[in-house]
Parts: sequence; C-alpha cells; structure tokens
Amino acid sequence: MKNYYLPTNLLFGRGRISEIGTETAKWSKRALLVVGMGSAQKSGLLDRALGILKEAGVFCEIFSGVEPNPTTTTVYKGASIALEQNLGVIVGIGGGSVLDAAKAIAFSALNPGDLSDYIFGRKTSDLALPAILAPTTCGTGSEGNGFAVLTNPETGDKKSIKSHSIIAKASIIDPELMQTMPTRVLATVGFDALCHNMEAFLSKGSHPIAEGIALRGVELGASSLARACSGSKCSKAWDDLAWASVMGGMAINMAGVTAPHGLEHPASGLRNITHGEGLAALTPVIFDRSTGHGEDKFRVLANIIGRERNCASAVRRLLHDIDLLVKLSDLGVKEEDAEWMTDNALKISKAGLDAHPKAFSREEIKEIYLAAM
Ligand SMILES: [Zn+2]
Repeated sequence: MKNYYLPTNLLFGRGRISEIGTETAKWSKRALLVVGMGSAQKSGLLDRALGILKEAGVFCEIFSGVEPNPTTTTVYKGASIALEQNLGVIVGIGGGSVLDAAKAIAFSALNPGDLSDYIFGRKTSDLALPAILAPTTCGTGSEGNGFAVLTNPETGDKKSIKSHSIIAKASIIDPELMQTMPTRVLATVGFDALCHNMEAFLSKGSHPIAEGIALRGVELGASSLARACSGSKCSKAWDDLAWASVMGGMAINMAGVTAPHGLEHPASGLRNITHGEGLAALTPVIFDRSTGHGEDKFRVLANIIGRERNCASAVRRLLHDIDLLVKLSDLGVKEEDAEWMTDNALKISKAGLDAHPKAFSREEIKEIYLAAM
C-alpha cells in the first residue's frame, strides 16, 4: 500500500521565527510553549519567541525541561497543563525531542488514556490540538511529519505515535536558529537526517515521490554536513542541512524507516543513548550485511555520498569526516544487552525491519548488535 498525504505548511528562511506569533494566533490566543532543558533559554531564543508571541496577543504557559528521548510521563504532564489551563495550541521550539514532545502533548490532550494503545495501533484517533513548530536542530524532520517518538519508562519501548492529526499546522524552519549547535550535536543530528533520507529511499514502502525527496535530501545532507561540522558558517551549507532535515522527515512519513532506525530505537530506549550516535554505530554494519539485496539503490546512495560503489564504506568515510565513527560499547551499551535489544526490535520495529531491502533473522539481528559493539 503506497500513499501520499502530507499537508505540511513549511515557512523556510532566515529570520522567519518572527512569524511564530501570527502563525500561532491563527489557532488560539492561549498556547503551551514547549522547550527543552535550557539551550533556548540560554541562547535568548525563548525570550525572543515570547516577545513575538506576546506581540501577536498570544498568552503562553511555558512547559520546560523536555528531556532527550522524551518519555510518555513528560507528555502526560504537558497534556494535563494544557487541559487545566484551557490552552488551545501547542508551540514547540527546540530539537527533535522537544518537537516530538510538543506533538505528542497536542495528541494526548485530546486523547486521554494510555498512549501505548495508540503507539501499538490498538486505538487510532484523528484528533489533536493544533501544533506550531520551530526546530533548532537539523536532524529529526519532526517538523515535516506526523510522527512523535516516545519512550515508555516502564517498558523501555521507544516507538512512534503516528497520526495525521499531529502534523504541524505550520513549521518555521529558520536556519539561523540552528547555527548555535555544538559540533558534536550537529554531527549526530545531521547524520540522523541523512539516515531518514537514505532509509526512506531504500524502504520497500518507498514510491517515486518519496524517492525524489529522499534522494535530494541525501545529496543536500551529504554535501554540506562535513563542511558545517568543520566550522563553516557558509549560509548555503546550513540552509542545505535544514532542507535535508525536513525532507528526511517528509520522506519517512511516506515511506517509513528501515533497519538502522529499527535497531537503533531499542538501544536508545534501553540505555538512553543519543539517537544519532546509535545510528552511526549501527548503520554501516547493517549496510555491510545487506549485501545482495537492493543493490541498485545502495549503489545510487554510495555514488551520491562518496562517489564510490560500496555504500557502507561511503557512510564510514562520511562518519570519519564528521568525527562520528563510534561503537555501541563507547556509548554505554553492553554485550549482554544484545539479547534484550533483539527481542525488543522484533517487538517494536517490525514495520521498519520488514521494509528493509534484506529480511534479517533473529540471529542475524543479534549478530549486528554484537558487531556494532
Ligand atoms: Zn531518526
């Protein structure tokens, strides 16, 4: 089954954060403003956004402290504030975790009960409060899709809510907001964006619209990431990365992810590792072990990323260039975790594993985890 339905309203360009007030006010004059652990506060962006929102007549209740790999518990807290205070719109300003939390709060506010029912498809809903998003990193692509990845702290399951209702009413993609990222953060989020595009292109669920967006996303991301990581302030490189991020988010909304995301989520669900670092440890190993399947597509990617024939080695070279050649064991994942991660991947990532060009057996999945240590 191949579908295209993606009504995103993207406002792209430097300085366009100035429009967050008017975009929000279209939906409600009472907003929950969701931010993270402090970077928007420190950089002055939070105050700036509050000023713009106030000018547009929008009252804001601030919900701060969203953690990396946001939990369902955090989402329930935000949703109850939105309900208690009768807030009509959710605004998320931050990295992928903040945007995912904002979207999930918008969903949870109108769908009371256990979010796991929606995450595991036992229930569905087309209801959510409107969400307005402004990403400050260029990785997640959350600003361009209907996913919100959450971790259940009781089970360790890290899996997405997927609903058209949480596609943002407007996403303000202002590359200027991203240029304060530390280099390591940039490398990890940028590689995540590249993976979204690569995986959407490789996915068995892909189609010509998704492939077109994903391939251009790979091209933009691969050509600019190393440059930006080496300290370049070239605005074209940063604009390209911002496009690659949103295009990756849109491409996976259509085609889904494959094995790298499928196997990474159990690792970050269990050990709370950084998503982009987990992807960096797993992706080349998975590509090595996919040989003989989807060869044509892997060759296209290898050529775009590194002008070579082997995709795993092109990806390794790029990771070397952005100083992100890591192993799962460097990140705190232990060999004895392989068994749990394998079982968890088969539980939560069936769709992603099914969409990968090669079908991996349980034993092969465990071997991938061990080889990535
Ligand atoms: Zn991702």
